[in-house]
Amino acid sequence: MREIERLKEEILKDYPRMSKDDTFKFNCHPGVSCFNNCCADVNIFLTPYDVIRLKNRLGISSQEFLDRHTLMPFDKGLTYPVILLQMTEDEAKRCPFVADKGCTVYEDRPWACRMYPLGMASPKDGNEDVPEEFHFLLKEAVCQGYQEDKTQTVIEWQDQQGINDYNAMGDEFKEITLHKFFESPENLTPQKVEMFFMVCYNIDKFRSFIFDSSFFDKFEVSDDQQKEMKTDDIALLRFGYQWLRFALFGEKTMTVKSDVWTDKEQELKMKQKLPKQSS
Ligand code: SF4
Ligand code: SF4
Repeated sequence: MREIERLKEEILKDYPRMSKDDTFKFNCHPGVSCFNNCCADVNIFLTPYDVIRLKNRLGISSQEFLDRHTLMPFDKGLTYPVILLQMTEDEAKRCPFVADKGCTVYEDRPWACRMYPLGMASPKDGNEDVPEEFHFLLKEAVCQGYQEDKTQTVIEWQDQQGINDYNAMGDEFKEITLHKFFESPENLTPQKVEMFFMVCYNIDKFRSFIFDSSFFDKFEVSDDQQKEMKTDDIALLRFGYQWLRFALFGEKTMTVKSDVWTDKEQELKMKQKLPKQSS
């Protein structure tokens, strides 16, 4: 983690900043001499959208995906839980999804794999030193892609890599993680960490949490929305963000059913009427 912080500082200070229309020379294909070399021993942070795409691609539950393919690093500097794609435990530390012919989950590969060799810094990341979004190139010695004869703009690269859906979902996640709630570490009780983790990374567990409980007896959620969330992970994730705003941040993003309020009021009145116990 310290290494990542150091790299961030270096990028802000030294790396040439690129706009979306700037061009760069790069190509990656099975013919490059370094093919697959970068899919090993690498830190790939996974977003909630990455997890959904990958676990659906693999046809496993989010819990199975977390158990088999992720690590949760502990670092005092972290303000919220993050997860990393777990590399294999052999010496090469290869990505579990790499094969001789390339990435076996290519259509659903994570945001970080799509962006490479581009990086992005944005005011949406909460960094005051970045007044406006810019891109930069991560030139690594192992990568021969820069010797290839193909030139494109940043925006063309992003279109080719199918990054737009990932960016849109990433922005919604950032709106949660950059909330001022996370500025005070004492806000994040173990129960709240668990809730955040379930909504963001264990979407199938969150589905059970709301559908296999009295959740919908307490909160107003239309039948259509409930039906959609039964099968649509993205709709459920968006609802999860709304729920986190209510349950963690105390925002009025959920409507409590009126009879729940009435029951609560009656319970309170009953308590007030009860004679005080003598000590
Ligand atoms: S997910 Fe695919 S592209 Fe990303 S590191 Fe693994 S094999 Fe490489
Ligand atoms: S090192 Fe660069 S060129 Fe080689 S496979 Fe990875 S991204 Fe492609």
